Amino acid sequence: MSFKLTILGCSSAVPDLDKHPSSQLLNSNENLFLIDCGEGTQIRLRERNINFQRISHVLISHLHGDHFYGLIGLINSMHLLGRKKELHIFSHFELKNIINSQLQVASTILNYPLFFHEIPKDSEEVIFENDEIIIENILLDHRIHCSGFIFREKKYLRKIERENIIKHNIPDFYLNKIRSGDDYKSPTGEIIKNKQITKKARQANSYAYCSDTRFKKSISKKISGIDLLYHESTFNEKHKNLAKKTGHSTALQAANIANEAQVKCLLLGHFSKRYKDVNLLKIEAQKVFKNVILAENGMQLNFKEIIQNN
Ligand SMILES: [Zn+2]
Ligand SMILES: [Zn+2]
Repeated sequence: MSFKLTILGCSSAVPDLDKHPSSQLLNSNENLFLIDCGEGTQIRLRERNINFQRISHVLISHLHGDHFYGLIGLINSMHLLGRKKELHIFSHFELKNIINSQLQVASTILNYPLFFHEIPKDSEEVIFENDEIIIENILLDHRIHCSGFIFREKKYLRKIERENIIKHNIPDFYLNKIRSGDDYKSPTGEIIKNKQITKKARQANSYAYCSDTRFKKSISKKISGIDLLYHESTFNEKHKNLAKKTGHSTALQAANIANEAQVKCLLLGHFSKRYKDVNLLKIEAQKVFKNVILAENGMQLNFKEIIQNN
């Protein structure tokens, strides 16, 4: 049972030897969600020894190259390596034509089923849900349509000790009620308190990914109380006007969102190459929000630790 985030790339625009464009991998109980797929993402996955055939879902925030130019390469490599398992891609609708054209001109017929799911451009809704997790989109404010994502694990059920089931002779049909928090009422009318027979469940985690965006105050309401917020911080305050013009945020603006939303931790990324030392962005953000992490290539964040350290 785990909820972990790996940073595969956290720089903006042009890739460089040590500057990789946006991509992250969220591992939710061994279900792998790839979030954005900048150029070279498959190499970054190999560097981290992550078998990319295990990725089941890919979410693309928007169609600027630094967020999806690695996707056709990854799709093709999955095919060449004999993938049979379905792959689900969530994006704005134009991506389907782009990928299909690329496959078509190469006469590539994929070995595996590829499904496209459209992210709405003018509404915020649940875009994916299974037994364990719910994903919603967030409307961001960029130069083209851009979507953020909120991942919320579903509440975990309490655990019943087997010895307690035997001891109190609890029938099967009662077990899920007890796992959900009910006390047990025996056929003789005896009440056994839930806490006596169950163990606390693991806390459900949450993650918000705010890709390229201008400062948008209303985001904070939407992501209120989230465990970890990734918010782009392409610029510092000195370049505030440039941030607004190009549809990006400063580190201080990202921190204001984190502070307003009362998140547990803020992760900054999508750094402009102009800053030799991005630590200045952290210092700036910490003026309004203390718990700040700078994204680094290959960094792995375990949500259990993020919560413990809070
Ligand atoms: Zn970008
Ligand atoms: Zn962009």
